[in-house]
Amino acid sequence: VLASTVIEASGLVKYFGDFRAVDGIDISVPQGSVYGILGPNGAGKTTTIRMLLGIIDPDEGTRSLLGSANPRSVSDRVGYLPEERGLYPGMKACEVIAFMGALRGLDWSAGRKRGAEMMEQVGLSRVVDEKIRKMSKGMAQMVQLIGSIVHRPELIVLDEPFSGLDPVNQGRLEALIGEERARGATIVFSTHVMAHAERLCDRLAIIAGAKRRFEGTVDEARGQLPLEVRYTPGD
Ligand code: ATP
Repeated sequence: VLASTVIEASGLVKYFGDFRAVDGIDISVPQGSVYGILGPNGAGKTTTIRMLLGIIDPDEGTRSLLGSANPRSVSDRVGYLPEERGLYPGMKACEVIAFMGALRGLDWSAGRKRGAEMMEQVGLSRVVDEKIRKMSKGMAQMVQLIGSIVHRPELIVLDEPFSGLDPVNQGRLEALIGEERARGATIVFSTHVMAHAERLCDRLAIIAGAKRRFEGTVDEARGQLPLEVRYTPGD
C-alpha cells in the first residue's frame, strides 16, 4: 500500500523566454517524510519549488498540493521560506513572527507565545525583543523561518534554508526540522550540499541542468550521484 502523498507533480516544464529552466520534472513527496531537492546553483530547484506551491504556473505538466490541483487554495496549510530573505527591519523578532502567523490565520497572541517558545528552542530567546535590523543575517533568517512555520503547517517548504547560516545555526535548524517532523509535518527543502540531505532526508531528488537526474532514498543515492553534485563543496 502506498503512503499518501502531499506533493504530486509530473512533467513540470518552465521556460523563461527560450530557456528551459525546468525540463520535465516529476516529484512525489510522501506524507510525513523529509524530502530533499538537491542540485547545484541554477539547476532549477527554486523554479520547481515555485511551481509546486503555485507561485508560478508551469508551462507543461500537472501538480497537486495537499490533494488540491489549485496549490494557492491550500497556502494556509503550507509554511514557506523563500530563497529571497527579507523582513521588516524596524520590527522586533517576536512581532515579525506573530505577524507572519497572523497572515496564515494564527491568533496574534498565540503567535507571539509560540514564537517565543520556538526562539528558545533554537537558542535565540535573548533576541526575541530585538529589532531585525540589529540582528545578524543568520539570526534574521532563523526568525523568518520560525515566522513561516509558527502556524504549524502540515507541509513545510524551505528554499536553501542552510545557506548563510553558521555551523551552530545549521545544527539548530537540523534539530528544528527534526522536531517539526516529529509533530507530523512533511518537510521539503532544497540544498546544494549533499551532507544536509544525507543527514535529514528520507528521500531526495537530484536536479541538474533543469532535469531530474535521480530520485530515491539517501542510501540509493550514495555512489550514484552525478559528478557535479557529488563534488559540490559545502557552504
Ligand atoms: P540557485 O541555487 O542558484 O537559486 P536553482 O536551482 O534554485 O539555483 P533556479 O533559481 O530555479 O535555480 O533557476 C534555474 C535557471 O532559470 C537559472 O539559469 C536561472 O538563471 C533561470 N531563471 C530563474 N528565474 C528566472 C526568471 N524569472 N527569468 C529568467 N531566468 C530565470
